[in-house]
Amino acid sequence: MLAKPSEADVAGNLAEVNSRIRAARLSAGLAPEGTRLIAVGKGHDSAAMRAACAAGQRLFGENRVQEAEAKWPALRAEVPDLELHLIGRLQSNKAEAAVALFDVIETLDRPKLARAIAAAIGSVGRRPRLMVQVNTGEEPQKGGVRPRDLADLIALARDELDLDIVGLMCIPPHDDDPALHFALLRELARRHELPLISAGMSADYEIAAAMGADLVRVGTAIFGPRG
Ligand SMILES: *Cc1c(COP(=O)(O)O)cnc(C)c1O
Repeated sequence: MLAKPSEADVAGNLAEVNSRIRAARLSAGLAPEGTRLIAVGKGHDSAAMRAACAAGQRLFGENRVQEAEAKWPALRAEVPDLELHLIGRLQSNKAEAAVALFDVIETLDRPKLARAIAAAIGSVGRRPRLMVQVNTGEEPQKGGVRPRDLADLIALARDELDLDIVGLMCIPPHDDDPALHFALLRELARRHELPLISAGMSADYEIAAAMGADLVRVGTAIFGPRG
């Protein structure tokens, strides 16, 4: 079952999260604008997404291709200027569906997937922007390329396969200081001349915003607990 937060709650939570992002940036001496909020819709129904759209939100993230396919094509017809990011693990055999639906795929993390996405771009005729997920904590169970393998993956994706790589994404380990991981991610992005980092979730988006993250991905703080 997908959870059903009230429309008023969604609008209020969005305003609160946006104001916290601005405050975090200002307190760090950054311009208030510059961190874009991705509203993460996984586990919440279309009505919740519609409520966020009514409150002015246009940038959304989903974890699973199948759930996104069930929710977003209809919403896209109602709200044409939506931007949709895939933030969950992508299996190579779902690359075509992901390329058909998403504007940005944030979770490129292995050569096989880079090749599958390149093939899908050829067959589908859409060219989503891509971000490389980096496993900054080198956790065995987590998706993402190890920092030491990042250069090879970027070389393959950008130079050989001509994919449009725009940045890096990470999910820090639960028990670590997230700021260390966000700083490493920014340094890796700088080294590879990539403009964007996607960092921060409900628990740590203010830290990410204060560090100048370009994108934060927030679900629970906007839509409440997942169903
Ligand atoms: C679910 C998810 C989020 C949002 O998590 P919340 O804690 O609900 O804000 C962000 N990023 C990724 C990759 C996720 O899977």
